This record gives sequence, C-alpha cells and structure tokens, in this order.
Amino acid sequence: MNIHEYQAKSILREYGVSVPRGHLATSVDEAVQAASELGGRLCVVKAQIHAGGRGKAGGVRLCHDVRQVREAAKALLGHRLRTRQTGATGKVVHKLYIEEGLEIAREYYLSLLVDREAEAVAFVVSAAGGMDIEEVAASTLERILTLPVYEAPTREQTSAMAAVLGLEGAQADVFHALAGQLYHLFTACDCSLLEMNPLALTGDGMLVAVDAKIAIDDNALYRQPDIVAMRDEQEEDPKETEARQYGLNYIALDGSIGCMVNGAGLAMATMDIIQLKGARPANFLDVGGGVTVDAVCEAFRLLFSDAHVKAVLVNIFGGIVRCDIIANGLLEAIRTHPMQVPVIMRLVGTNEQEGQRIIRQAGLDVRWASDLNQAAEMAVAAAGGA
Ligand code: GDP
Ligand code: MG
Repeated sequence: MNIHEYQAKSILREYGVSVPRGHLATSVDEAVQAASELGGRLCVVKAQIHAGGRGKAGGVRLCHDVRQVREAAKALLGHRLRTRQTGATGKVVHKLYIEEGLEIAREYYLSLLVDREAEAVAFVVSAAGGMDIEEVAASTLERILTLPVYEAPTREQTSAMAAVLGLEGAQADVFHALAGQLYHLFTACDCSLLEMNPLALTGDGMLVAVDAKIAIDDNALYRQPDIVAMRDEQEEDPKETEARQYGLNYIALDGSIGCMVNGAGLAMATMDIIQLKGARPANFLDVGGGVTVDAVCEAFRLLFSDAHVKAVLVNIFGGIVRCDIIANGLLEAIRTHPMQVPVIMRLVGTNEQEGQRIIRQAGLDVRWASDLNQAAEMAVAAAGGA
C-alpha cells in the first residue's frame, strides 16, 4: 500500500526525523492560508499524488510570495499531472502539501528496502540525490552504496554510508542517529520501501527529508490500523478497491484478456501462458479458496465491465473452490452485466460436472477447454489474436 508524501512525513516526524513544516490544502484558499501561516521567504507547493517525478513535471513549485502560491495552487488543483511514473494518462491532483522552503546545500539519496536475498533491510545511499536514482544506477553504479542491515545499523555501517555522502564529524553523528530512526520506523511500520530523494543537508547543517515515499507491505496491514486509515482510494484503481471489499486478490494490468483463477501460483502460470501465446493479461485475479458466489459474481462483473477486456479466461482447478460456486457466480453476474465478450472456461476438479451442467443449462455461450494450453490459445484467438 502506498501513502502520500505528507503522510510519510508525518510518520517520519513521529520517529524523530527532521522534515520541513507543512500543511495540507485541498483548495486554493487553503493553500494561501497555509503559506501565510508558515511565513518565511520561500514556500513550496507540492502536488500530492502517488507518483514521483513531480518536480520535472511542474508538480513541485517554489514560491516567493502569496500570489505565486495562489497561482501554483490554481495550476495544480483539479488538473492532471503527467510524470514519468504516472504514465501518459497522468493523475488528477486533489491535494497539495504546502511546505516551508529550505536552504538546501546538498541533496542526497537514501532509501531502505527489503533485501530478500540477504534477508535484511538494505540501506541504499548515494551522494547523487534529487535525481532519478534509476538513471544514476544505470550510468554510475559506483556512486551508489547498498548495505544489508540486521537488527540495527552499526556505527561501522553508518560511517561507511556517511563517507559516501561526504559527511564528517558532527554531521556523521547526525547521520548515525538518523539511520537508527529510519531502521526503527521501517521495521515497526512493516515498510517495503522508505525513500528520501532528496534527503537534504541544509545551510545550517541539518539533515532533512525534503521528499519522502513510504510503501507498506500489504500482508502486514492487519496490524497497521493507523496506516490503513491513511489509504487514499482516489489514488487507487477503483476496480482494485472494489475487489478488495470482496476479499479478491485483484491487480489491474493493461492487456486484453481478463483472467479468473484460483490460487496465486495458478494465476501466475495463467498469465505466463497468455504471454507465451502472444497476448497480455488484463489483470491478475486470484479468487482464493474460501470464495463465495457473491465474490465470484463480483469478480465476473469486474472483468465484464473492463473495456480493455476482449475475452475472459476462467482457469479453475477446483479443490477447496467448488466449480458450482464459480458457475453460480457467473449466472448471478450476467443478470446485471450481460456477457459481451467470449468466455473460455477450463473448469475442473471439485463438483466439475455440476458446475458445467449449471452453465450449459443456462444456455450460456461459454467455450470449453480441456486444458490450460488449449484454453490460452482459445482466449488469445477470441481476443483478436496475438
Ligand atoms: P519529486 O520530483 O516528485 O521527487 O519531488 P521532490 O519532493 O523530490 O521535489 C523535487 C525537487 O524540488 C527536489 O529535488 C528539490 O531540488 C526541490 N525542492 C523541494 N523542496 C525544496 C525546498 O524546500 N527548497 C529548495 N530549494 N528546493 C526544494
Ligand atoms: Mg523526489
């Protein structure tokens, strides 16, 4: 789960990390009000969307007076911002974060992420901050230091990182304290990513998180109620939000074949074979083991109402999931969402005959496949070929 920059900064602040003062604004007047409360000679108007690269796209604006704040807020609120992370459609800006402007002496890159291979939290640091870190990695990998950290960063580790950033003496001590706070935050909040790009060294020698991105491991959300409360559904795909309410494991993708599968492994295999046959899946959808007719119905509705979907491939290997539940879910769904695209079914396992009988009796134009290979070929052909 992703949260906004302003929310990430509120968490950072709780853990003792320095962040600029700021206020959230959802209207031009609120933005102006926030800027006057902050005072100071410089303030920054920042679009809050779940995507980076805002600076280069005009989503981060330095303002020297209230008039500039008003103009920036007007230009951003309600408008679509297209950054290299949003894709061509961009994202509509509904919220602004108004911050005090800082005197930035240097910009660093610092992130923490899960290093699966090392089974540790990896710290990634670079003196080439404020830039696209993927570009730095591609062109000058030697400027990036990655260190696996277990339990807490040691003095030796933070010294190595401080050296990469060119921090010495008292500043290296500040960095050591910061690294400890970040590690604590990362583990306590079940983060999958904590990134500051840039982490800024200010004119008066402070290390301040000027930008912040936090992503939380979805599997740990049950024990992070405060973070779940930060969810901004406006930022998420409405199909995913709806699917979540029915306990479906659904991720929207950009292909043309809608998939309904039980089990994450089978879902991955189904997506792979669709690609192998030359088309692309429109989604990942694992209906799970304890699925109900209602949830299956919702799953079909999601697939049928997606304009990108040119064919639906159902690949159910009934075990705990019963084939008759899938069949009844389909019948329920077509009451409100008539089948307008071909549906290819591979429906085997528990109550297979019962499931197939229900669908045949209803007279539905479902195309039956006997195995996954055939099902994928039929789906790709039905969707208009590779
Ligand atoms: P991103 O482009 O979405 O990653 O947004 P950032 O929050 O990283 O902002 C982009 C850039 O704006 C930063 O790299 C800074 O150079 C600049 N910036 C942001 N806040 C301040 C500030 O308070 N003072 C100054 N001088 N620059 C800032
Ligand atoms: Mg940034």
